[in-house]
Amino acid sequence: MENKLHFYNTLTRKVEQFVPNEDGKVAMYTCGPTVYHFAHIGNLRSYIMEDLLEKTLRYLGYDVKRVMNITDVGHLSSDADTGEDKMVAGAKREHKTVMEIAKFYTDAFFADCAKLNIKTPDVVEPATNCIDDFIRVITRLMETGYAYESGGNIYFDTSKLKEYYVFSSQSEKELLVGVRDDVEEDENKRNKSDFVLWFTKSKFEDQELKWESPWGMGYPGWHIECSCISMKHLGEYMDIHCGGVDNIFPHHTNEIAQSEAYLGHKWCNYWLHVHHLNDRSGKMSKSKGGILTVTTLEEKGYDPMVYRLFCLQSHYRKPLEFSYDILDNMSAAYDKLVKRIGSLNREGSVDRAVFDEYRTRFEDALCDDLNSAMALTVLYDMLKADTDDATKFALAEDFDRVLSLNLTSERAADAGSGVDAALEQYIAEKIEERKAAKKEKDFARADAIRNELLERGIVLEDTREGVKWKKA
Ligand code: AMP
Ligand code: ZN
Repeated sequence: MENKLHFYNTLTRKVEQFVPNEDGKVAMYTCGPTVYHFAHIGNLRSYIMEDLLEKTLRYLGYDVKRVMNITDVGHLSSDADTGEDKMVAGAKREHKTVMEIAKFYTDAFFADCAKLNIKTPDVVEPATNCIDDFIRVITRLMETGYAYESGGNIYFDTSKLKEYYVFSSQSEKELLVGVRDDVEEDENKRNKSDFVLWFTKSKFEDQELKWESPWGMGYPGWHIECSCISMKHLGEYMDIHCGGVDNIFPHHTNEIAQSEAYLGHKWCNYWLHVHHLNDRSGKMSKSKGGILTVTTLEEKGYDPMVYRLFCLQSHYRKPLEFSYDILDNMSAAYDKLVKRIGSLNREGSVDRAVFDEYRTRFEDALCDDLNSAMALTVLYDMLKADTDDATKFALAEDFDRVLSLNLTSERAADAGSGVDAALEQYIAEKIEERKAAKKEKDFARADAIRNELLERGIVLEDTREGVKWKKA
């Protein structure tokens, strides 16, 4: 099939044409959440943009198999294999077992994803399901000399590789900028960049989950899980691997090192990384605390779709700064958009030529390094176009297969159906009049306007994002 999609491949540092290993088929892997806490809206930015990628591929006609892990063991507080297992720390914090918090936060993660219309990957596999796979791969790495035992742990020996820093020609120091949290040194390592494949003795005291292995009771390192889970379900060759930019080093660098050492050939051709959502103090992170969740946004009166729109309005390769002011603007824009589409008369036939023209423009925007903001512009242009409602509605429905903003759902239909443009205009004027009355402290007039609208079947609601209306 025609491979129209182009995106930035972190491995080659270029926007490249995407050509899968097998024509028409895509093997895709996403690093899943570490389930010791709620996902914050920064994590969810990554999952929204990865969802956009998956849906774009499907929209273009690819048969996608997407796999995601759930990290429920082995992810330590520092990416340099030191500190406490995040899951153990989470269990202590909540006086629960590791498995209890893993279940609770895995469910919470998928509930958040559902609210944001993020499709569940075809395969979701917790790391604790795959201990035998980890042991098998590590055993082979020991046999082939890529791994060694030191201080009771098993390490990957990065000096055995021709090239370890595959993602960049930059220095190690520059790469460390992307490293998450604090970094401490581990004296058991032969080389500074070596990493743990299997823990036995170190940091073991409180480890609740441990398994028998040829090297003693222990538990796996974080990086090995993604290599093994992806190979288990996608085989020896993968097309796209994604994650947030903080995963580039060391997590993805180490995944490539161990996978290619194990397989003896190139493993994954394309790597896509989503840039961070920041708040005023920098990168939003679970370990920093005080995180924003989807529930926080809902409690403040925002529809989760507003956050999805906020993410789609910006490019995945740029850092995005969160602010309530921008979210308020998005909320107003979202309401307007949904009402506009809801007011379209769906009866009648679709003009195929117009449909195809806009579909091509929409596809072109997505194929240009997933330019979601441009794809939204195509949607707005289409709604303004001089064509019939039925075609516009069909296009909005079609675009929403990728955008997933509930543009034509029941909610959208409710918001607009039965309210003609004249009434909509009248409501808008009355809302402005009421705002002016309130400003002048003429509350009797403000109440009279509210009642007047109520008599016409329209209910006003004062929210923190301004006045909204719905049918009674
Ligand atoms: P974690 O649950 O910490 O393993 O992270 C889950 C995913 O969220 C990973 O792909 C991270 O790279 C990504 N991530 C973490 N922090 C942010 C952030 N502030 N903005 C966007 N993505 C993030
Ligand atoms: Zn991973």
